[in-house]
Amino acid sequence: MKKTICLLPGDGIGPEIIAQGKLALEAVAKKFGHEFIFEEALLGGAAVDATGEPLPEATVDKCKAADAVYLGAVGGPKWDGLEPAKRAERGLLGIRKALGLFANLRPARLFPELAGACLLRSDIAARGLDLVIARELTGDIYFGAPRGMEKRNGKRVGFNTMIYDEDEIRRIARVAFKTAMGRKKRVCSVEKSNVLETSRLWRDIAIQTRMEFPEVSLEHMYVDNAAMQLVRDPSQFDVILTGNLFGDILSDEAAAITGSLGMLPSASLGESGPGLFEPIHGSAPDIAGKDMANPLGTILSGAMLLRLGFDMPAEAETVENAVRDALASGFRTGDIMEDGKTLVSCSAMGREVAARIK
Ligand code: NAD
Repeated sequence: MKKTICLLPGDGIGPEIIAQGKLALEAVAKKFGHEFIFEEALLGGAAVDATGEPLPEATVDKCKAADAVYLGAVGGPKWDGLEPAKRAERGLLGIRKALGLFANLRPARLFPELAGACLLRSDIAARGLDLVIARELTGDIYFGAPRGMEKRNGKRVGFNTMIYDEDEIRRIARVAFKTAMGRKKRVCSVEKSNVLETSRLWRDIAIQTRMEFPEVSLEHMYVDNAAMQLVRDPSQFDVILTGNLFGDILSDEAAAITGSLGMLPSASLGESGPGLFEPIHGSAPDIAGKDMANPLGTILSGAMLLRLGFDMPAEAETVENAVRDALASGFRTGDIMEDGKTLVSCSAMGREVAARIK
């Protein structure tokens, strides 16, 4: 199969980790007889430096013309002082919007080889952690109007609007149920319907949408309880369906308890058009340029690109198995290093994985 992938290396460790992700995809193409054409475009600080804008038009055009977008990370102290519209992170929000990406899928998985890094008590970790958070990405309190800051009765007030319409909820719910169909067929819808009208509508639409997926079970949980259950017993979850704000917080919590920020991939999907695949961590300016970053979250994002972007499940599994095999062989980057293991650089880890794909 012939596919075009637009690389957005971005800033900090972005170029280093994307180089390793590309190596893995090249190995997949060779093994399975595909032709992957790689384009590259500027995003974030790198784009600001070259063009004055964090998301140049040329980048949007290249991404829209591709079959998938593969992103490293953006941002860093160099661009923190810029006015909000020029900040590197604006590039990321902008490209998500330009591609109409409304669904963010973040698996949080504890690799048995890395159980020692898990922040949970060992008896809880032993039950396992393998869940996916399906977070709505374009609505909710982050984008709702009215919003602002103004003076009322001599005091400053800040306000935002939490708002969802039923179509917005239905389309992310469908993504969650579809994802569950390929897993343990369990969805937990997380909201705060004891307090919020938005959440009452959310629950209603989740129940309605479930009728389209009769094999999948649906339970409901208030977000405060979900935050607690994630640390008490994350093994109870398969797919968590939630809105933008709650998903933002819960997905970081789920990632943090695995103890390996550098290991976790993500996918952002739209109704049609290319999806965007990226590791969940940032540009790690503290280790940028030192060939020290963990490229596995990026490589596993490549596996999501193959499975969800190109419908290539066997290819995706090959990449995931190669990552597990590299870990089982004892190779570790600094962030996941343990006694008795072999410390390797970012590029050496990339080579170990690519060699196992071949
Ligand atoms: P970060 O994720 O970049 O780094 C947090 C810590 O984790 C650092 O100590 C870093 O060295 C380490 N780390 C992160 N990824 C790693 C990897 N692959 N291998 C080894 N160690 C890794 O978060 P931060 O420090 O809060 O943010 C740095 C910059 O990244 C900021 O400008 C922020 O805005 C940006 N950011 C970008 C994204 C994105 O592009 N999606 C996401 C989060 C933060």
